[in-house]
Amino acid sequence: MSETWSVEEHLDDILSSVRPLEPIELQLLDAQGCVLVEDVAVPVSLPPFDNSSMDGYAVRTADVEGSCEEFPAVLTVIGDVAAGEGDLPVVERGQAARIMTGAALPPGAEAVVPVEWTDGGLGGGPVETMSARSTDPGGAAGEVRVHRPVEQGQHVRPRGSDVRAGAVALSAGTLLGPPQVGLLAAIGRGTVTVRPRPRVVVVSTGSELVQPGEQLGSGQIYDSNSYVLTAAARDAGAISYRVGAVSDDADTLRSTIEDQLIRADLVVTSGGVSVGAYDVVKEVLSQVDGGSGSVEFRRLAMQPGKPQGFGLIGPDRTPVLALPGNPVSAYVSFELFVRPAVRALMGRASVRRETARARLETDEALTSTDGKRQFLRGSYLPPAAGEAKGVVRPVGGAGSHLIAALAQANALIDIPEKTTRITPGEEVTVVPLDP
Ligand code: AMP
Ligand code: MG
Repeated sequence: MSETWSVEEHLDDILSSVRPLEPIELQLLDAQGCVLVEDVAVPVSLPPFDNSSMDGYAVRTADVEGSCEEFPAVLTVIGDVAAGEGDLPVVERGQAARIMTGAALPPGAEAVVPVEWTDGGLGGGPVETMSARSTDPGGAAGEVRVHRPVEQGQHVRPRGSDVRAGAVALSAGTLLGPPQVGLLAAIGRGTVTVRPRPRVVVVSTGSELVQPGEQLGSGQIYDSNSYVLTAAARDAGAISYRVGAVSDDADTLRSTIEDQLIRADLVVTSGGVSVGAYDVVKEVLSQVDGGSGSVEFRRLAMQPGKPQGFGLIGPDRTPVLALPGNPVSAYVSFELFVRPAVRALMGRASVRRETARARLETDEALTSTDGKRQFLRGSYLPPAAGEAKGVVRPVGGAGSHLIAALAQANALIDIPEKTTRITPGEEVTVVPLDP
């Protein structure tokens, strides 16, 4: 391995040591966004019983055969069946039961005549109703006139027509989005076994850092990295904890990290990884927990984000990614290395972001150092209807301190190591940064 690592080599090294978290059982809504690790079987068919898809009248088909406006079938209404009603009337020849959407088809009935195909039961006087709930003024009447015939099973949702008992509702590996959470609820599952969201602890370092909301002294700046990294970890699917800034003091940093390990599946630090006099992250991360840490610091052939550290520390060999402190470097490093690590911990099938090809829209040619992979910030417009490719316009310059430009960007422009010049209109690879 060369002394300088490529982006892919560094990422491969991280992914080869990061294992998916052990599965746990979670309540449905807590499992949202997590990956299922069990095949979930359907215990009872859906729907669990034949039921009406319309408000109308449950009838025997023979009783309404040949009915029309001029010669309606006249049926005796024997009562109401509301959704949730378990005590069902039996529909005999010449009879109908008023039925509501979702209510069980009563025995004897073969189909449902929608209320629009009837006189709505206005033809006769009130009758005794079957259900205690059917006390509304428009309740079952003595007779109903039906204007149109129905076929066997019409307007009836048969038992098991959605999903049958014993079938696999969702298979292991499924990512639980809202519809999947809904299906689990529909089949009666209260909890599921998933890989949990990783807990990411974010520690920024730097004696110059002040927390937002506080007064800036001379030589001080606000700590933005701990915010952007915590927010980005949350977007990536993690539960993230922001520890805020720790001063460039080895003992403080060491004890902070040791204290945080208890609640961390992944630790992310920012700053202190270059070769300055106060770059304490390097010093400390090789010593955490009595020397059981083994964080390696390396130079990457990339811009921004050249200095990077990665290793496993503490009794649980918790992965730690030490990112450079410049805000743009820290964020780009998060996108390239931390986000894939978070998704690997979650057991996600794809850990890398999708890329796209886009036409570069600039006034002047872009230049890039030979042998360095460059990630510029860009404003990307996906392909318009009928077009194969979108366009991307660089925002801000190459400076790693340009936070304002970063906030205008929605993509990274990925310039390969060997490329030194890109002219306006050329095609480039972009990494859209949608959440
Ligand atoms: P370092 O890698 O610690 O030498 O930091 C590189 C540059 O990034 C310096 O200009 C720092 O002041 C700045 N920086 C480091 N950490 C942060 C942070 N948490 N928020 C904003 N800027 C930072
Ligand atoms: Mg620093």
